[in-house]
Amino acid sequence: MRPPLLNPLFALVTSLPGVGPKQDKLLQFLLSRDETPRLADLLLHLPASVIDRRARPKIRDAVPGSVVTLEVTVDRHRPTPPGRSRVPYLVYASDDTGDVVLTYFRAKADYVEKLLPVGEKRYVSGTAQMYDGTLQITHPDRVVTEADLAKLSLIEPVYPLTEGLALGSLRRAIAQALLKLPAMPEWISAGVLRRCKFPSWSEALHRVHEPRELTDILPQQPYWSRLAFDELLAGQLALALVRAQLRRPAGARHTGDGHLRRKVIDALPYALTKSQQEAAAAIADDLQKPLRMLRLLQGDVGSGKTVVALLAAAAVAEAGKQSAIMAPTEILARQHIKTIAPLAERAGLKVAILTGREKGKERREILTKLEAGELDLLVGTHALIQDDVIFKSLALAVVDEQHRFGVRERLALTQKGDAVDVLVLSATPIPRTLVLTYFGDMDISELREKPAGRQPIDTRAIPANRLAEVIEAVGRAIKAKRRVYWICPLVEESDKIDNATDAEQRFTSLQKRFGDKVGLVHGKLKGTEKDRVMAQFASGEISVLVATTVVEVGVDVPAASVMVIENAERFGLAQLHQLRGRIGRGSEASTCILLYREPLSETSKARLSVIRETTDGFRIAEEDLRLRGEGDVLGTRQSGMPGFRIARPEFHAQLIAQARDEALRIMKDNPKLTGKQGDALRALLYLFERDEAIPLLTAG
Ligand code: ADP
Ligand code: MG
Repeated sequence: MRPPLLNPLFALVTSLPGVGPKQDKLLQFLLSRDETPRLADLLLHLPASVIDRRARPKIRDAVPGSVVTLEVTVDRHRPTPPGRSRVPYLVYASDDTGDVVLTYFRAKADYVEKLLPVGEKRYVSGTAQMYDGTLQITHPDRVVTEADLAKLSLIEPVYPLTEGLALGSLRRAIAQALLKLPAMPEWISAGVLRRCKFPSWSEALHRVHEPRELTDILPQQPYWSRLAFDELLAGQLALALVRAQLRRPAGARHTGDGHLRRKVIDALPYALTKSQQEAAAAIADDLQKPLRMLRLLQGDVGSGKTVVALLAAAAVAEAGKQSAIMAPTEILARQHIKTIAPLAERAGLKVAILTGREKGKERREILTKLEAGELDLLVGTHALIQDDVIFKSLALAVVDEQHRFGVRERLALTQKGDAVDVLVLSATPIPRTLVLTYFGDMDISELREKPAGRQPIDTRAIPANRLAEVIEAVGRAIKAKRRVYWICPLVEESDKIDNATDAEQRFTSLQKRFGDKVGLVHGKLKGTEKDRVMAQFASGEISVLVATTVVEVGVDVPAASVMVIENAERFGLAQLHQLRGRIGRGSEASTCILLYREPLSETSKARLSVIRETTDGFRIAEEDLRLRGEGDVLGTRQSGMPGFRIARPEFHAQLIAQARDEALRIMKDNPKLTGKQGDALRALLYLFERDEAIPLLTAG
């Protein structure tokens, strides 16, 4: 049960004055929520910059281009002439050093008259400009009387926005939410508070949303850092709770004499890479040890994780026990079984697949065999964790792409056996510093080498003014029966809206040239329509697929061997790597063309050259982390630390380890989270939605 203390923070944003259904939709989008956001979500949306209104020059000294707050006397009005609505409404004002013109386009006359009465003194804040030799402020942000001057916030936070949401209305909503902030117990221990010089939770929130200094909103400052630590601690604590559950000593160990593994290896049409061998050996070692295995196997798509997982399952089968591989989607589950089935057959391993698609008699048969121990390995989706799926002796749970699964699902699978060993597969290479954030303390194996025989990808960066040449090249590719992805980017960082329009335009222009060889998928299409186009692309009915990035082009089309990425300079490295991973899967040499718009920033240049030089996902992830922070990375949030809103790897890497240590200390001193400190920590888990782990505190 959620501590009642948190209720005000869990109130919906629509309970705030001025936040209606339209704002609700926009805020859901902005804050990446599937439902009406809570006040806590709003409060954890932190400023990207500030407007500094502290400069209070005389008119003569105002610097054009800067934000100033002027003390002026209103001299006269020149309203928009009737019938000429494009001519602005001008207000002339002055101080003892000169004149300033305040310009209003399409203004209501009575509004301006009331705001700036002739003969009176007003404080006017906005961006100064020079126009025809006169200082001018167009649509001043603020106009206040002397009496209200004290209430004018001279340093104003600026938030990431989304189209249709005004800064002012977001700011007002956040200010309202701050008023509802309840007093919270401190969940961070005194030692950490002292060492990191952290303010309280409430002070931290107040200072980032109501900055008193320009630096108050910077991620590296104590206010933001404190909130990042809270988020990281919640994550680490949840992982530690799960881990404590998983790490209970195992009974009988499970690994056999190697005969099945040898058969699998003999059945392989290729030799294992060195890193596959090492990973398989490390896993076999874990399976023998009395502690339960908790190992992460990382490697790019296509690096050969499946066969390593199969070898683990074979080791377990040698000891007469069963294994399960759980994938997040039906497609991925079927990809696994496609790789596994022929090898398993030759090794005499009995395998089956169970997803939502296996129904009725077929499903019953699988379940019967599973319970009788007639299956060695069951591959599937979360259909595996349904209650009636009963293993005779589950000993190994392999979880693919784990961070898409919640704690609950992971546990549900491991609870279908006794002291089940856990192997996690991840196709998103992340630097070791970040592994902790997502997976907590785990042993790690990495598949860094590409299997032999992979065709290289030739990656080239080409300026956008040579678009015509690229289109010619696409034409040649079509003639050669090659399959081409054409990727259009998102419009702005703050705007994750699928840019259907750009993609549609590109689609239209390519279609003019290549006719019905071109298809289009974007996020606004219906699922069935998307599937239809993807199937056409997979079958070769169409040769060019224009797509936006948000669209899941996850379907494996090994025949695709060309990718064009428009505005490549605006993508993050991780994203470019993920996109490019969709080609180079087949037997053909592949080409990736990065179209960029000039001029390139230094970071963009560095990024494009990294992506050209290497296809090693680990190196790319490390470079990505290093190059972060210039702020021109598109989709930083998605590619950076998915699932984290506040913590940023480039600023808070140090805090990750500290949060881990703190979580471990808590697990040692107060593993059941009791007493005052325990209550505070439970509140923290709820606040950051890591409360899935809380039921574990009562479970045995
Ligand atoms: P991952 O799961 O890491 O994305 P897979 O295990 O699906 O990758 O492997 C991708 C493809 O590479 C499969 O067709 C597999 O048979 C093949 N493969 C795996 N290991 C090797 C190897 N050592 N040499 C050649 N091909 C390999
Ligand atoms: Mg795979």
